[in-house]
Amino acid sequence: METEFVDWLLRRIPADVRLEVPPGDDAAVLRPPAGRRTVVTTDMLMEGVDFVLGPDCPPQAVGHKALAVNLSDLAAMAARPEAIVVAVALPRHGGDAIARGLHEGIAALAADHGVTLAGGDTNAWDGPLVVTITAVGSVAAGVAWRRDGARPDDLLVVTGPCGGSILGRHLAVAPRCREALAIAARHTVHAAIDVSDGLSLDLSRMMAASGAAAVVDLAAVPIHPDAERLAARSDDRRSPLDHTLADGEDFELVLAMPPADARALVADPPPGLAPAIFGVVQAGSGLLARAADGTTRPLEPRGFIHAFDG
Ligand SMILES: [Mg+2]
Repeated sequence: METEFVDWLLRRIPADVRLEVPPGDDAAVLRPPAGRRTVVTTDMLMEGVDFVLGPDCPPQAVGHKALAVNLSDLAAMAARPEAIVVAVALPRHGGDAIARGLHEGIAALAADHGVTLAGGDTNAWDGPLVVTITAVGSVAAGVAWRRDGARPDDLLVVTGPCGGSILGRHLAVAPRCREALAIAARHTVHAAIDVSDGLSLDLSRMMAASGAAAVVDLAAVPIHPDAERLAARSDDRRSPLDHTLADGEDFELVLAMPPADARALVADPPPGLAPAIFGVVQAGSGLLARAADGTTRPLEPRGFIHAFDG
């Protein structure tokens, strides 16, 4: 029942100075941090598309992922996470246990990142579980990272190895919020995007927004061990590099940086980060792949795109 669940939920939400009117009213009232811009993002997860509930994916894992993908978008803007609202469509059967599990997953990650729960909506229907989180962050005026600022001669950095996330990392997402703020405090970043849909696809989006081309050094693209494991399966016809360029849900950040900043970041990264330089920006459009012998060929961006028509 919605009423009991909401009562249960409200008892669990810690008070937060950022909430002038806390959850439980018609709407929350936030106190914006002085002198900072408000950054807003939203992301929806749908059972059957983004996850399948089961022994490997309990509601807690769904809650974690639903918040993590939103925090990753804030990280890609170098924004500090502040508050979230959560809207849930629960399946009628078993919905109460799912709702409580979801909240556990959300609350743990929210506490880890200093995010306050400002409100939400809980519905039930005869369909599958759908979770939508809207996250509010803050950033000093004029310094948010954007995807349209990459310039020729910038080096391309990815904050960690990619590929094969379906083997488990697609649920245990570790959003790069703290790392992004640490990088922003020390280095110049001309453009940024998080790898949600595929390294090559998200890089192509950055290049399209920036009006520039990217040359990807194939030998320098950091391949995650999960990509090797996936490619080694007998029913898999793709290479580890293919998985790294196309799989998505890695939630690392791709950064276009002046060469000196990129090299300084790779030489002395924030704790827990293993960034790599994997290419360079040049005039033009689209993606090029550079082989070890220096030859280049067009690189088709690949990744996950929601398909719809009519
Ligand atoms: Mg994104």
